[in-house]
Amino acid sequence: MVQKNLIDGEWIAGSEAFRSINPSNTNDVVGEYARASADDARAAIAAAKAAFPAWSRSGILERHAILRKTADEILARKDELGKLLSREEGKTLVEGIGETVRAGQIFDFFAGECLRLAGEVLPSARPNIGVEITREPVGVVGIITPWNFPIAIPAWKIAPALCYGNTVVFKPAELVPGSSWAIVDILHRAGLPKGVLNLVMGKGSVVGQAMLDSPDISAITFTGSVGTGKRVAAASVEHNRKYQLEMGGKNPFVVLDDADLSVAVEAAVNSAFFSTGQRCTASSRIIVTEGIHDRFVAAMGERMKGLTIDDALKAGTHIGPVVDESQLNQDTDYIAIGKQEGAKLAFGGELLKRDTPGFYLQPALFTEATNAMRISREEIFGPVAAVIRVRDYDEALAVANDTPFGLSSGIATTSLKHATHFKRNAEAGMVMVNLPTAGVDFHVPFGGRKGSSYGSREQGRYAAEFYTTVKTAYTLA
Ligand code: ADP
Repeated sequence: MVQKNLIDGEWIAGSEAFRSINPSNTNDVVGEYARASADDARAAIAAAKAAFPAWSRSGILERHAILRKTADEILARKDELGKLLSREEGKTLVEGIGETVRAGQIFDFFAGECLRLAGEVLPSARPNIGVEITREPVGVVGIITPWNFPIAIPAWKIAPALCYGNTVVFKPAELVPGSSWAIVDILHRAGLPKGVLNLVMGKGSVVGQAMLDSPDISAITFTGSVGTGKRVAAASVEHNRKYQLEMGGKNPFVVLDDADLSVAVEAAVNSAFFSTGQRCTASSRIIVTEGIHDRFVAAMGERMKGLTIDDALKAGTHIGPVVDESQLNQDTDYIAIGKQEGAKLAFGGELLKRDTPGFYLQPALFTEATNAMRISREEIFGPVAAVIRVRDYDEALAVANDTPFGLSSGIATTSLKHATHFKRNAEAGMVMVNLPTAGVDFHVPFGGRKGSSYGSREQGRYAAEFYTTVKTAYTLA
């Protein structure tokens, strides 16, 4: 059965369909999905525009009830949806279920936020005048998402968009339409009026581009590659619309001489290799001071030997396959580049054969890398990390910040002085002390600096900044 697009409250088949393939087993077709055309995207935008006046004035209890119901259903179906996610994306079942729970928590959080919409009342600078500051929805929000968090990223964009009274045109990544289809289906059945949320699955160059080109989209929130992010930015400037970008990372994880070795190794392995390294918050630059360097590298090697790389759905798998062939080729290309550049491939990096045909890659750890090498500067987006040896904390901080990106940054240390200094001076939107660079809460701001991000933060109450526009009203008493 082909899962359809949702346009103006109707499930629309369209003329073409595409298949989603399980990266753990390429013989397994996860599902078939209708491929939207540029005309479908334009119809979805028109539907969202038509639905905006009523939805923007809808009661907070109506919005609360829909988001709450959605949260409840996602949480009740976490095992089934988590399995679907792991089948389509390749992260382990534990990670897939965890991400699904997080999506449920996000809808729950924004269900609550509907009931806490607030403004400010201030005295004017002039006598007998009152000033009210309120937040209003922006209009039609375009949501474009990547493949690496198939349910959490759509959730953290759709939930606040609807909560604050916007209507939505949502284009998920082509590799992982199943989880997106599922949450749109849940929201639709939870009672969203027609046109408020529209789903257009299909190609970025067609459906995404039609969204970028539309004057009727008032804001676009995008997570994906730097190249596409730049297109989103250029088109948004052209249309004078709001935009928010979450793009790449080249996140550093610093290990100091005084670190607790096991804490450092756990955090580094998690940062670099869990979710197959396919997280924008993953760390691929492990910056280690010389007093602990050799012990740390040896302990990493031991820890990596204990990792099971296998079918994402198998119990006991720590790391699933790479998402698809082109990403696998990118990963192995960078492994070759690292060797050519003179880094030493200390562990892993081999293609693996398992019971089923899939994109299995043993996590790779380079040592003797420098921060100037391409493997230290460019985002690889796979289970490939490099250890960079430094003299001391000062050099570690300088190397950590010497990158065009600035999403997340981590440090392993028992020194309060260094931890405090690092928190203040890391040029990143998120800083982790004795924790992996990846793995964030659902109710606090998420986002980066420099080349990683543009616009206001996502998630938590800070999401209001993007999904609303401020109005200042003056009244003569
Ligand atoms: P990734 O490497 O994560 O796939 P992309 O930037 O290619 O990064 O994809 C992120 C999202 O952007 C996907 O939903 C993709 O379909 C979409 N996309 C790709 N090209 C365009 C484009 N020209 N216009 C709008 N969206 C696009």
